[in-house]
Parts: sequence; structure tokens; C-alpha cells
Amino acid sequence: MKKTINFSAGPAMLPHEVLIQAQAELLNWHQTGCSVMELSHRGKDFEQYALEATQDLRDILNIPDNYKVLFLQGGARAQFASVPLNILSDNTTADYIESGYWSKCASDEAEKYCHVNRIKIQNDNNGILSLKPYEQWQINPDSAYIHYCPNETIEGLAIFDDPTFDNKTIVADFSSCILSKPINISQYGIIYAGAQKNIGPSGITIVIVRDDLIGKAKQELPSILDYAVQAKHDSMFNTPPTFAWYMSGLVFKWIKQLGGLTAMEERNRSKAEMLYRYIDQSDFYHNRIATENRSIMNVPFTSPSEDLDKRFVEKASQHGIIGIKGHRIVGGMRASIYNAMDLAEVEYLIEFMKEFEKTNG
Ligand code: PMP
Repeated sequence: MKKTINFSAGPAMLPHEVLIQAQAELLNWHQTGCSVMELSHRGKDFEQYALEATQDLRDILNIPDNYKVLFLQGGARAQFASVPLNILSDNTTADYIESGYWSKCASDEAEKYCHVNRIKIQNDNNGILSLKPYEQWQINPDSAYIHYCPNETIEGLAIFDDPTFDNKTIVADFSSCILSKPINISQYGIIYAGAQKNIGPSGITIVIVRDDLIGKAKQELPSILDYAVQAKHDSMFNTPPTFAWYMSGLVFKWIKQLGGLTAMEERNRSKAEMLYRYIDQSDFYHNRIATENRSIMNVPFTSPSEDLDKRFVEKASQHGIIGIKGHRIVGGMRASIYNAMDLAEVEYLIEFMKEFEKTNG
């Protein structure tokens, strides 16, 4: 029996069906007589499973043949360094679009390796935050690539269109929105995402990289970070996090069964629209993001005071709602409503919000 509804930004809730399946096969995976995490990554059972999981991800995201899919470690933060180290080549400049906390962290890391052209795109219009559309980004013609983050997990700020720039490599940190809707992979040079939101447990990071960007790293790059080395070894240059890979594979099957990314987008939009609609009609709760940039994954909101925010979080936990406290840099609350969360669970949150407003408003 599940006792709580987990609104955490990550590690986040996993599909219930996936957890049940993992539990059922824990002690005897694929008739091997032991658990998947005790088996060699080089054994035929795991190797075959890893290939199938990779193919399932390719199918779901419709990844073209000229892209490699890597399952790496070190989280999205390792990619903040790996991206410039792998693809700068002899270039010394890269464009970094800053839309919020995580894209700024990516710029800060890249600055160790190159000149970073920081392009700030956040607008604050009387307290309402929005993002400049990509047509207005001031791109440097000589930059090696453009890096941006389509979903700022902390602020709840999102860019929904896949950007297009002629002859420019686009790199995107999809950590908190991968698999939430279809994307046009061929518009990107590299997409990366930590698993712990929409993919599986923490410990694994997916990197989807176009073939021509592989093999450009300098000699001194540690092999473990080198896309060419990882691609050559099918992401098994070192021992991969096999359990996280296994769980991610179960999540891919779950997405396929539910109808793929079109179905996911529909599910996610319905949940988000319902929650924003409730917040907007309330005089008690407030979300400060302009409609066109509202994330469908992370919904931050506040009550009329910090004291009430604190009480909200405490009361919520007594009602089985956990992980709802906002990030310390923005305060308030944040409901992360990733793929695994269903509509009824968001309805439950709204019912709690109504009740809280009634007794504290
Ligand atoms: N980018 C984004 C958009 C994130 O949400 C996060 C984690 N919340 C990170 C990067 C950092 O991820 P990791 O902890 O996997 O390095």
C-alpha cells in the first residue's frame, strides 16, 4: 500500500506499476535465481536487457540512427563539464543561455574550460517571470555551441519549442523534462538528463549525442568522460549502475504501454492545467510565471506569507503529501508532477490546498 504522494523534484516518485514489478522480480530476475543487481554487467542476461532498454528509449524518443545513446554516471553536473571538454575542440567560446538556477550552474562550470557568452533571458515584469523566445537570443557567430535548459526545475520556468539555429550545435539539459513530451531530436547536437525525475532512480545519466560530435575531445580528457570511449564500450567502459539501468528500462516499457510521449504530454498537460487553473482562481495561492513559460513538470507556488508556507508544508505531510517544500532559493512550495504522478494525485493535492485555504485564508 502506498501511504504518501511524493511531489519531490528529484529523486522523484516512480510509477507504482514499475515498483511492483521490480519488487516481484527482486529475488529472481529473469529466472537467474538472483537479483539483477548481483549479476555481471557483462553477462548475457544483463547485456541483452541493456540493449533492449536502449532500443526502447530510442523508440520512445524517435532517436535518429546518427545519434548514440549513452548511459553514464556523475549526474547532469558531470555533463556540465563533459560537454565543453568533449566538443569545444579548438574553439574557445560557447553561448550559454541563462534562464534560471541550473543553466547558470552549467555556465559557471563551462567557464573553467572556455569563454562563456552568458545570455540572460529572464524578464521580470512586475514580479511576473518570463523567458525571451529563442528568436531573441543574442548568439555569438563564433561560438562552438549553444547550451540551454528547457525546464528550470527550481523556478518552474520552461521553454517548449525546440530551438532552431542554422549551422549551430544546440546542447540541452533536459534533466527535469525529458520524456514529458515528444521532442525533435534532430534539432539538437547533445541532449542530456539525470535519471532521477522522469527516467528512474538517481545514479544514471542519459546522454544522446550526434555522431559528428564524438571523437573531438582533447587527448588529456579522462577516458571516463570521453563520449568516444563510452560509445565504443556501449557505456560499459567502467561498471555501469546496473540497477538504475534496469529500473530505467522498466520505466521505458511503462511509457510505451501508456502510449508513448504523446500520451505522456497529454497526461502532463492535464495535470498542470488543472493545478495552475486552481492556483490562478485563488486569492490565497500565487504562481509568478508567465503563462507561456509555465513548466508542466514543476509548479512553484506561495501562500500569503512565509509562516503560512511553513504551516502548509507541515500540514501537507500530515495528509500524506511529501516533498512539496520549495527550493531554498525561491521558498514557498513546489509541486513536481512528473510522468509517474497521475491526475487523481494532483486532484488530491488541490483538495488539500482548498481545505488549507479555508482554514487559514
Ligand atoms: N539540471 C537540472 C535542470 C536539474 O534539475 C538538476 C537537478 N535537480 C541538475 C541539472 C543537477 O543534476 P544532478 O544532481 O544529476 O547532477
